[in-house]
Amino acid sequence: MAGTLEPIQKMVTELAHLPGIGQKSAQRLAYYIVGMPLEDVRNLATALWQGRKAIRYCQVCGNYTAGEVCGICADQARHNGQICVVRDPRDVAAVERMHEYQGLYHVLHGTLSPMDGVGPEDIRIRELVERLRDSEVSEVILATNPDIEGEATATYIARLIKPLGVRVTRIAHGVPVGSDLEYTDEVTLSRAMEGRREM
Ligand code: ZN
Repeated sequence: MAGTLEPIQKMVTELAHLPGIGQKSAQRLAYYIVGMPLEDVRNLATALWQGRKAIRYCQVCGNYTAGEVCGICADQARHNGQICVVRDPRDVAAVERMHEYQGLYHVLHGTLSPMDGVGPEDIRIRELVERLRDSEVSEVILATNPDIEGEATATYIARLIKPLGVRVTRIAHGVPVGSDLEYTDEVTLSRAMEGRREM
């Protein structure tokens, strides 16, 4: 961008990588940051850097955690007979907001999408199968988003794990088609869970 000092342009470029931030917003933010006290900018940068470094995937379910295992997997009070399969950690947070589901989770970190070259080996399906092999899980609830990719992923996983003798269910269509679980309100999500059907 002509007339923009190089250090500011660098900030704009990095900020524009964030979701929902276009060039104009990135520029506004960069100029705002340049006007901030140096100490505040350092606190912001440190919080981002340290926060990112501290977070990793739970060894059991793939949810975000600051330790080896996430708080949900470590919680002895949760039912270990149910696993709710979701696309990403934000969906875990969405289901948790209902305060109803008491089982465990499995985070896939993506959905099958042949168009984008995402196959079964690119998301955490193998880890799910391994988890089911010697466990007390009696039901797997497939709660991927009700869009084309989410449905295809649910169908694929159902076919794969049903032979293991586990009950496989899919959340009901209470969640509007094409929408994200993350943005679904608690009542709708709660109904979708209750109305889940056999696959
Ligand atoms: Zn976990």
